[in-house]
Amino acid sequence: MHDYHAHSVYSDGGHLGPMLDAAAEAGLEGVGFADHCSVTRDDHWVAKRDRYARHFDLTYERRRDAIERLRGEYDLAVHDAVEVDYEPGSEDRIAAFLDEAGFDYALGSVHYVGRHTVFSFEDFSTPGTPAPETVVADYYDAVVALASSELFEIAAHVDVIEAHPQLAGRRTDEQVRRVADAFAASRTVPEVNAKRTTRDGEPDLHPTDDLLRALRDRGVRFTVGTDAHRPGEFAERVDALARVCDTYDIEPVSPADLRRRGGSRPRPAE
Ligand SMILES: [Zn+2]
Ligand SMILES: [Zn+2]
Repeated sequence: MHDYHAHSVYSDGGHLGPMLDAAAEAGLEGVGFADHCSVTRDDHWVAKRDRYARHFDLTYERRRDAIERLRGEYDLAVHDAVEVDYEPGSEDRIAAFLDEAGFDYALGSVHYVGRHTVFSFEDFSTPGTPAPETVVADYYDAVVALASSELFEIAAHVDVIEAHPQLAGRRTDEQVRRVADAFAASRTVPEVNAKRTTRDGEPDLHPTDDLLRALRDRGVRFTVGTDAHRPGEFAERVDALARVCDTYDIEPVSPADLRRRGGSRPRPAE
C-alpha cells in the first residue's frame, strides 16, 4: 500500500526521518509527503498563511533536496507531493504554481468556504456566520469545481465536513449525486482519508458511506491517505485503510496509474 497523503515539518507535520521510520514500520510500500500550500490572493487567507503554515510554495525545493537524500536510506518509495488549498476562481494561479514546481503529484483540498474553515473548531452558531446549509452547499459546489478543474491528481478528504458536528448529516442526495458524477467524469482521483478520529479514538474514514458507495458504483478509483501529521499516527490508520479497502472491495490506484491519469497539466513523458 502507498500512503499518498502525509505531512512533514515543511508544513504542520513531523520531521521527515521519524515520519519515514514510522511509515516503514507500518508496512507501507510507499509514502507521499503532501505538505500544505496556499497560493491564495484573498486578503483574509493571505493574512493567515503563515499562522497555518501554508507557505510551502516558498520551501518545497528544500524539502525536495531532503527527500532526495533520504530516498537512498529507506526501503520504501518516497513521493514528493503537495496539498494545495483549492479556492474556486484561483485555478490559473494554482496551475501556474504546479507547472513550475513539478511535484510527483498534487492533492487539492477544500479547507474553507468564504471566510470560514470547515474544521470542527469553527462555530457556525455564532452571529454573523453563514447558516450550516449554506456552508454545506458552498462546500460541495467547491468540491465539484475541484473535480471538474482536473488540476490535481488527487482530491483529498472530499467530505471532510461530515466530521464537523454542525455540518454533518445535512447533505442532500442531490449533492452526493453531483459529487459522484463529477469524479466519474474527471481524471482527478478521490482519496479514502483516515485523518479524522472519532471520540472513541478510532480512525473515521472519508468519504463516508453513501458517498463512498456512490463513487464506487460509478467505477471511480481511489487512492488512500493516512493524512498523518505525527509518526505515531501511521500504524493504526494504515490498518483502518486496509480494512475499508477490503470492505468496499477497493483496489487503490498505483503510482504508475496515477501518473498516467494525470491532471490537465502537461506530464513528463513516461
Ligand atoms: Zn487537508
Ligand atoms: Zn492533509
